[in-house]
Amino acid sequence: MTQQQELLNYVNGQWQRGSATAALDVHNPATGAAIATVALSPAAEVDAAVRAGQDAFAEWRRMPVVDRIQPLFRLKMLLEEHLDDIGRVITEECGKTYAESVGEMRRGIENVEVACGTPSLMQGWNNEDIARGIDEHMLRQPLGVVAAITPFNFPGMIPLWFLPYAIATGNCFILKPSEKVPLTTQRLFALIEEAGFPPGVAQLVNGGADTVDAILDHPDIRAISFVGSTPVAKYVYSRATANGKRAQCQGGAKNPVVIMPDANIETTTQIMGDSAFGCAGQRCLAVSVAITVGQAKEPFTEGIADLAAGRKVGYGLDETTEMGPVITRESKERIEGLIEAGAQEGARVLVDGRQKTVAGYDDGYWVFPTVLDAVDPSSHLSRTEIFGPVLSLMHADTIEDAIDLVNNKGSNSYGNMACLFTSSGAVARQFRYDVDAGNIGINIGVAAPMAFFPFSGWNESFFGDLHAQSRHGIEFYTQTKVVVERWPQEWSRKF
Ligand code: NAD
Repeated sequence: MTQQQELLNYVNGQWQRGSATAALDVHNPATGAAIATVALSPAAEVDAAVRAGQDAFAEWRRMPVVDRIQPLFRLKMLLEEHLDDIGRVITEECGKTYAESVGEMRRGIENVEVACGTPSLMQGWNNEDIARGIDEHMLRQPLGVVAAITPFNFPGMIPLWFLPYAIATGNCFILKPSEKVPLTTQRLFALIEEAGFPPGVAQLVNGGADTVDAILDHPDIRAISFVGSTPVAKYVYSRATANGKRAQCQGGAKNPVVIMPDANIETTTQIMGDSAFGCAGQRCLAVSVAITVGQAKEPFTEGIADLAAGRKVGYGLDETTEMGPVITRESKERIEGLIEAGAQEGARVLVDGRQKTVAGYDDGYWVFPTVLDAVDPSSHLSRTEIFGPVLSLMHADTIEDAIDLVNNKGSNSYGNMACLFTSSGAVARQFRYDVDAGNIGINIGVAAPMAFFPFSGWNESFFGDLHAQSRHGIEFYTQTKVVVERWPQEWSRKF
């Protein structure tokens, strides 16, 4: 990678500088150094991509689905071949460890694999003789030009939650990646180009909030997929749907984990450490609140505090690093401010990750693992998505009290995922049945659903009907057409 590489849009099969007059620097969060510049594309660039997409759509939707998936098979092979290269780029611009970066790409590749099954997934339904001699069937047709707007924290994986399904079903797809991490998508689109999709089928338009508005207001974009923070998800959902578009908008999260006294506390603590501090807590599936029940409190509190204090923080390309920096200086300041606010509201700072640096990386955006005990469920901290390596501890006397804490909308309005650690099947069933969240983990850290299941967030974590991935993705990117037909023998020419 060259210093201050200038990033380009990929429109109509061409890498283009575009007409943007404004640009942003992209920083390596471990060093603070500017490593690239990214253009903030104006509405004209979005319009050029939409027109190219519409031109391509006329032919792409006619291509048999078995042919449309062939470039996806090639893309899968290319992504496997370039895993190391892309993993390094993710670490350089996003900060997570190299292992986390490669792991992210693996989960992205899964979606390419699932979308290769679109010939089966896209099939409709039919009935013969819904009335005498009349048949009825439902088939799925693509929408046209669709777009996705993605966040900084999984620059390789999240675009792949959408792109493979959108194009395999016959749509033309435009991606607007996060302006904080646009280098990964340059690499991704270089491979998309090599995989051999026709010009206009998959396009990349870099930019920020104004570019998003141009996408939301463009009359010829039919559907919007969004992943990011809840306030922006709500905004995107309202503006897109007010403009008559389909929208699926995944928002923020504040995932609780309940730990029963009959759980294996040692293993649970290890898993919790990875869930809370992996990717520096910048995951919509990070655990943010651990609720211990009864006697689980003492051993878990001691164990997690030791684990947090011992986690090795550093540059993600250093093999011994277990946790990287947070994404920007502003994020670091925001997270440290929230820790302070929590302490002011009465939480006990058991492990304090503020004001730390890593030797040799003085300008990095470091926040070390932090554990806050006795967090008040009604506090501002409890209601706020921290999106950093901060774990809040709460305590409950019974599983019922713990479930009440998880479901209490005054303290947690999200519903991305909730997990339970126990050795009781009855408690596990009670939790799965009663908890108000769209993804549930039992004796599992806060794990993302596999690509052949929907990413099923609820409440303030999701706005829309059909989620990302799997059959939901296929349904989101297609419209159903129902055909009723009658072919009376007596109307046919006799041969
Ligand atoms: P963000 O909301 O700041 O940005 C997401 C996208 O929206 C970016 O492409 C950005 O350019 C655009 N954007 C930002 N502000 C905008 C505005 N005012 N108007 C229009 N567009 C705007 O999110 P982020 O900081 O990049 O990502 C972190 C957030 O994403 C966290 O809240 C995290 O929980 C969430 N997230 C959710 C999931 C999920 O599956 N639910 C997955 C990953 C991340």
